[in-house]
This record gives sequence, structure tokens and C-alpha cells, in this order.
Amino acid sequence: MDSVRVLPMPLENNAKHFLVGGRVQGVGFRPFICVLANELGIRGFVRNRGGCVEIVAQSALVQIDLFLHRLLSEHPSIARPKLISAETCLPPVEPGFRILPSLEGSDAVLLPDQSMCDACLKEMLTPAARRYRYPFITCTQCGPRYTIMRDSPFDREATSMSEFPLCAECRAEYDQPLDRRFHAQVMACPNCGPTLSYRSGSSTIRGNEPALALAVSALRDGAIVAVKGIGGYHLLCDARNDALIRDLRARKRRPAKPLAVLFPRDGADGLDRLRLDCAPGEAEARALGSSERPIVLVRLRSGNRLSPALAPGLTEVGAMLPYSPLHDSLARMFDGPLVATSGNISGEPVLTAPADAEQHLQPIADAFLHHDRVILQPADDGVVRVIAGTPRNLRLGRGSAPLERALLRPLSAPVLALGGQMKTTLALGFGTRVVISPHLGDMGSPRGMELLEATADTLQRLHNVRVRTLICDAHDGYTSVRWAERRSDMRVIRVPHHHAHAAAVAGEFPMEPRWLCFTWDRVGLGGDGTLWGGEALIGQPGTWKRVATFRPFAPPGGDAASRAPWRSAAALAWDLGLDWGPPGLDVALAHDAWRARLNCPATSSVGRMFDAASAFLGLVQQASYEGEGPMAIEAIAGSSAGMEDAIALPLLSRADGVWQADWGPLVSLLLNGAWSVTRRAAAFHASLALTLVSQAITVREAHGDFAVGLTGGVFQNRCLSELALTALQEAGFRAYLPISVPCNDAGLSFGQVIEAAALAEV
Ligand SMILES: [Zn+2]
Ligand SMILES: [Zn+2]
Repeated sequence: MDSVRVLPMPLENNAKHFLVGGRVQGVGFRPFICVLANELGIRGFVRNRGGCVEIVAQSALVQIDLFLHRLLSEHPSIARPKLISAETCLPPVEPGFRILPSLEGSDAVLLPDQSMCDACLKEMLTPAARRYRYPFITCTQCGPRYTIMRDSPFDREATSMSEFPLCAECRAEYDQPLDRRFHAQVMACPNCGPTLSYRSGSSTIRGNEPALALAVSALRDGAIVAVKGIGGYHLLCDARNDALIRDLRARKRRPAKPLAVLFPRDGADGLDRLRLDCAPGEAEARALGSSERPIVLVRLRSGNRLSPALAPGLTEVGAMLPYSPLHDSLARMFDGPLVATSGNISGEPVLTAPADAEQHLQPIADAFLHHDRVILQPADDGVVRVIAGTPRNLRLGRGSAPLERALLRPLSAPVLALGGQMKTTLALGFGTRVVISPHLGDMGSPRGMELLEATADTLQRLHNVRVRTLICDAHDGYTSVRWAERRSDMRVIRVPHHHAHAAAVAGEFPMEPRWLCFTWDRVGLGGDGTLWGGEALIGQPGTWKRVATFRPFAPPGGDAASRAPWRSAAALAWDLGLDWGPPGLDVALAHDAWRARLNCPATSSVGRMFDAASAFLGLVQQASYEGEGPMAIEAIAGSSAGMEDAIALPLLSRADGVWQADWGPLVSLLLNGAWSVTRRAAAFHASLALTLVSQAITVREAHGDFAVGLTGGVFQNRCLSELALTALQEAGFRAYLPISVPCNDAGLSFGQVIEAAALAEV
């Protein structure tokens, strides 16, 4: 309001002006306010104002207080309102209570896509309902959000639903304050909303019922069907059909990387069908049923009916419940578990447009189930793993991103952080806000960089900010770094890889003033120009100092080592003077190169040590995807590994004051044929956990108190992280593993913003 004055008024003529921020747009908050106001006899209005909701309420003071109390306590479950201001104002000249048109502004809170709510599910299964079996049923509490936004605030005209004008019946619901679709921006019905079409060969069948029926019957016949969902295409097929899944792997050129499985929803918590094949714990069950509906890593039951080709060599599978009415219908009608893997070309972003999907997925998919609601921003499924009893995001995506975090101090100017090379996300920082994008994937392909550029524009446009500063990694080889350096109109700040990892965990738990962050990952360019990956950094954002590391080793072949665990194993063995090499590989050539130190960059990477361990144990010599070796050895170690066989690695104090752990004894442990592979795998994890704690204790003796952070892709390993967290707590440390911001390279963009802000560069 323009003026704020206190005037003597009759009791019922008091008026107050409220500004409510947080997650209040696209969540049915304005309709809820309107219904509540009518119930309490309050006059006035509500409207979107930028990213906030502005309310003017006129009544007796006691009624207004009750109204405020109830609007903050009884709001729709997906809303997260925060009262920003409450002031007395002039009473408005309003006969009743109305929703006014939105006012633009720069502070919109972007909402991730929301899974189908229970009310819509019930309605979709009610034969008499207008939207019976309608695969695009939504309301104020569910449906797509970020992936269909063209502009903000979140009004229908600013989304790709603007192409579907409401029919008279829908319009009546939209205008009716007591209807649960009152002002539902993406609502539709079979008469006015999106429609499915099924394409097989050269024929296309349009219509929700026939297209669904054809897709399900194709799936039953053993076909691979590309299905357009909320944030992109999935490839779906029968998860019990072993030959079919091997065929899918061959066609997708994805020999071993795990495939996610979609289960029909059934039973009180929806998990009855999933429990036939998987054994989710309590926290996993909660994550599976949460409104984010992520892919959750869950243990496979012995004797399950799923194809062993889904996750070769692993004991867990990525499982999810349907999140959209379309997926719910498909799973329900198919009546069994379905593989649901990203519809993309290996490593590239998920496809979103029917023509692109047909062009690129033709060699893989037998048929296509399209729809005509345009996906403006792609979003893969989010991935969650429960570690130490807490669900942790491993991938941000549909349901979990854009993810917003608050800063303690405002930035002096907006910034855009570009993340890393793989598992890339972007982070837009402005004011006290950081908005992290969904997973964009590998930047090694032109489509990856196109998506990065498009997402950079989208995040800025939807928040109405323009950046003049880019933040990126320190490694010249990263595509995003080269892209940033070409932007002559931009200032570029570079943040070393592991500093960004450490800053990300510090930024997620900002109440801790001083940290020792273990940044264990595969490799990143370190502060001294060598390849780090097994470091401990002390300090806080802006002041990191390396205080612990591992004895460096030099895998032959440089980048070739990332897909060849045997090269890391050979480097460790040869350094100890052992003669080691798996048969049938270029061992002699590699050994010559290693002796001459040709293309053998030294590294302290714990991720590479995991690779080496999986090769020593004969699990993975050549990897077909990043993480194959480490995942295989974790699966062998099992979930019940203890500290019994842990060996303490020698800690050496180097001349530069850095404590260096010697991996030497690990090699003898891994090659100890008297122990089973399982026992050796468990002892390897336990020894690394013990080393981590002894490094922390040694550093504490020299440097005093700090909180311990575990960050970097290595800590996606549940076995290692749980052993380390327990041992750290027993040694009296406050220890943290990231929860909402992934600990892997997806968290780099957030950490880059935190680090640059702390350096007072922005
Ligand atoms: Zn709903
Ligand atoms: Zn309609």
C-alpha cells in the first residue's frame, strides 16, 4: 500500500495489510485465502505481488488476528508461507473479498513440479467424475509447475497451458471459491485440456483412452515405449522381462548402468506392490511416498521377480511411485513394475519435444506415447538415497528443483554459478537467495551446453534479474569454464573445485562457524595445480586451507583412468614394487608409460582408490559408467560392514604441514587371498572411515574445535558415510553430510556462490 496510517475507526472498520513470502504461488494459496476470508466475513483482496502474496483484510481486529493466525497455520500442505510484514492500513473500498490480478515483480519463488495429490487420484478413479481416467487431471495442489513456466508470476497465461482455454465447466470451477480448483492455474478436463497420442510406425492414434490402451498393450507385448511425462520422455518397458532389458541396454548402448523402476501404487501407503520386489526401510518408504516422488535407492528383496539385468552386480535398485496421472494410469493398467529410464541419448539432456524424441529415440523405442502440453524446461527425475537414516538428494530434478536456499548476508550483485563438467546444475544468486536448477547433466555435448545456456536465461527471466558476473570451476578443460571466458561482457570468478565442495556443505549448515571438510571425490583441479580428490580443508568459505590428504599416485593414461579402474590399481601396485595387471589388457604399454611418467598425472583421489579396490577384487576392470567400480565394491561390502577389520593407515606430517595418509597397507589388505572378497571390501571401507577420523583427531589437536563436513561424490557411498559419521560422533565431533544440496558435483554451483560471496567478490 502506498500510505500506512493509523486512523480512529469503528471496530469492524479496521484494516491490515499483510505481505506473505515463501512458497505461496502456484500452490493454491490465494484461493485458500479467499475461502478463509469469506468464512470469517473479512472484506478486502489478495493478489500476487512479485513473488509474494499481498493481502488487505478489513474487519474487527479480533477477526483479522484470527484470519492471520489461520492463514499461517491451516494453509495448503504444499505451501510454505512466511509473514514478511503486517501493518495497519486504510480500509479498502471492497464489498467482499476478491482475488485481484497479479502485479509483476522480481521475487517469484519457483515451484518444482508437484506429484498428483490424493484428491485428484480419487477423482480420477471415480467413474461418475468428469475427469474419470483423465491423464492430465490437476488442481491447486498438484501438477506441473517449473517445467511449463514461460514467465512469472505463475498464472495460466504465463505457462504452456495458455494454449488450452478453459471450457465453460472448467471456468465455472475456476471461478467458484468453494471449489478445490478455484484459481487452479493448470487445471483442465478431457474437453479442453491436453490429449495423448500414440505413434507406432507411420500411424498415429489421437485420444486419451485409445492411446493409453495401445501403449499398455504394446508394453504387455514386450515393446519399449517412449512416454512423454512432466519433465521429458521416459523409456518404459516390462521390468521383469530379462531379454527385453538386455535388448534395451544394447539399443541404448548402456551395458550396465542401473535402470530405475516404476511400481503401481497400491495399499495404504502405496507401496504394497513395490514391497514384493524391494525392501524399503522406514525412511525410504517415506521418501518414496513424499510429494517430491523421487527415485529412491532401495534394497532388492531376495527372490524378487525383477530382471537381474536392471542393476547388474548391485543389491539396490532405483524405485519410484507414479508422480503424474499419466504414469499412475500406465502403471495401474500394466499392473506390474516398469523400467522407467530417461529418454535421452547417452549422457545428453532428456528429450522433451515429440519431433526430437521420434528422431533421436527411433532406434530404441518401438512406439511413442506423446501429449500436446509443451514442456518448456526439461527436468529429469530427482534421485534420493537414505544415509544414516536421512533421505539425501543425489540428483535434483522433477519434484525437488528449482531448489532455493537462503544466504545469511545479501549479495552485492546477482551472480550465476556454472557448476562443474558432469552432473551439472546452475545456481542463480541474488539478494539473500540462491536458486539451484534441476540436473542438466554432462556438459561434454553440444546439447548439454545448449541446455545450460537456455536454463541460465530461464532462471534470470523468471526472477527478473540480469547477471554481470559468472562463477565457474578453476579447470580450463571444463566446457562451462571456456564458455564463461568467451563472454566478454561478463566478469568471471573462478573457484577451485574442492573449495566449492567444502563451501556447499558449509552453506547448507550456516550455523557452524568453522569447518574441517573432507572433500573426497574422483578428481578436480586442486589449489596447487595437481589433481585432488582426497583432501581435508580447514576454515570457512573464503579461507580454506588444505591440512590433510593421501599419498599421491599416478594412474597411467590420464583421463583414460576414469573409465578403467585397473589403471588406478596398477598405479598403486607398481608404486609398491608389486607386479600386478589383469590379463588381456594393455598392461605392458601402460607400465612403460608409468615408468617414464608419460601422461600419468599424480592424484590423491579417494574415488580413484575405490576404482583401484574394485579392480584388485576382480569386480570391475573396465567401467561402462562413472561410479561402476565404487558401486560394485560397496554392494559387495554390504550394508552391515563394521569396523572390526579396519586398519589404521600411517599418517605422515609433510614439510608443508599437511598430514598425508599412506594407502600402502590397503593394497596388501585388498590382495590378501586368505580373506573373502566380501570381508576385504568391508575392511577397505572401514579403513578409510578410520583414516578419516584419525585425520580429524590429528587436525583437532593442532587446530582446535571445528565441525566436520563430508562432501564430494565419494560420500554417496552409504557404507563409508555411515561408518565415518558414527566414528566421528563417537570421537566427539559434530559431523554433517549434505541433505538437500547433493554432495556430488551437482552441489558445486551452490558452493561456488557461497565461496565467491565469502571472498567478498560479489
Ligand atoms: Zn490435485
Ligand atoms: Zn474443461
